[in-house]
Amino acid sequence: MKTNLNTLPCVTLVDQAAMKQTHKSRAPLSLHALLNKCSFSTPINLLSAIAVLCSVSFTTFALQTQDVASLVAQNKANFGQCLEGKKVEALNAGVSQSRVNAEFDGFTFIPRVIELDRSQPEFVSTFPNYFSKRVNEWRITKGREKYAEHREFLRTLTDQYGIPGHYLISFWGLETNYGGFKGTMSTLDSLATLACDERRSRFFSNELFLALKLMDSQGLKREEMQGSWAGAMGHTQFMPTTYTNYAIDGDGDGKIDLWGSEKDALASGANFLWQLGWQPGLRWGREVKLPQGFDFQLANNEVKTITQWRALGIVKGDGSSLPNSDIESRLRVPAGHQGPAFLTYANFRTIMRWNNSEFYAIAVGQLANQIAGGAGLHATLPDLPSFKISDIVKLQNKLNELGYDVGGADGIMGPATREGIRQFQAQNGLVADGFPSPSTVDTVLNTR
Ligand code: CA
Repeated sequence: MKTNLNTLPCVTLVDQAAMKQTHKSRAPLSLHALLNKCSFSTPINLLSAIAVLCSVSFTTFALQTQDVASLVAQNKANFGQCLEGKKVEALNAGVSQSRVNAEFDGFTFIPRVIELDRSQPEFVSTFPNYFSKRVNEWRITKGREKYAEHREFLRTLTDQYGIPGHYLISFWGLETNYGGFKGTMSTLDSLATLACDERRSRFFSNELFLALKLMDSQGLKREEMQGSWAGAMGHTQFMPTTYTNYAIDGDGDGKIDLWGSEKDALASGANFLWQLGWQPGLRWGREVKLPQGFDFQLANNEVKTITQWRALGIVKGDGSSLPNSDIESRLRVPAGHQGPAFLTYANFRTIMRWNNSEFYAIAVGQLANQIAGGAGLHATLPDLPSFKISDIVKLQNKLNELGYDVGGADGIMGPATREGIRQFQAQNGLVADGFPSPSTVDTVLNTR
């Protein structure tokens, strides 16, 4: 399985001009952290990246069940010998001798971790499906309760980091249901299993060593360290790298505990978003309404000011006027022209640096709005069937055959595929939104 995490934007994350005096200094990210944001297979937040992967793109990793079974058997047989090598690597990476002695002999190989790592979903979620599962009444109500519970503390975080509290609560709700589900797999065993799997050994070895160092620096205990199969931990599902670089002590007890302390988790989320480039005073974006006959080719990542969008007849989701503003934004129609439309601002991209998914970022923003008392979506979510990966492959093959070059037929709804669909639509009298609606797919497949 390959994720689209290699497309995480490499940007200058330090924007001193955007800082207010009262806010914490935005430290330049380490080279390591920057590499983390730019390279394949080094996600910031692997669990949620994988969970929502299907919403943005997917590359199949063609391993049959039998292949996975033999891979599991092979990795299991090699596990002991692999760990001997990892002990040396851990010491070289700065893990203490006492920690190596205490933990390595207790590592257990988890077959399920390899199976999950190689699993190949058959379906790709659509925006209506994704969104309605996440931004629901339960999450909104619970989010408001959590917001009220932490109101004063959230205010201090906003003063220090510039992130409004309702966003912090929203991330928390989407990552772990406000701590209700933080994962139940042993972090150390999961990471050791993946460190001894050839495919991303280097990345997961580094995460394992950082997790071991966190045990020393933060007094974390093996049995407390439970999370996702891929090593994401605590209320905010931080990987060890993120925990090490961005987590902070919010409740002032001298220890950073992303499992046991909600304040540590909220403060860490604020610090992380600040370091990722959050711009205080700016929202994520907003739902908008497009005029009749709107040219959907403009929803192609084009940047315009709000004033320019306004001049094209776009209004707020409730029908009222957009303000005149030089704020730059992009128009997004994640479910095609029949679904909701959004203008997204710079902080939308910051949210995507936490988790590189457009669907996730819209869900974070909209849930935050509703936690703060805002309205739900004004547009109706169209009833779209989930895509089968194999259907997207068929669509791509047919587009290529018809002369719309969408590259390799890989089952990913990437930019080239969207552009190919858009061109096909424009030349065949369909609304050119680049979205593979059932009617568009039918038309493509039935074209001779
Ligand atoms: Ca603490």
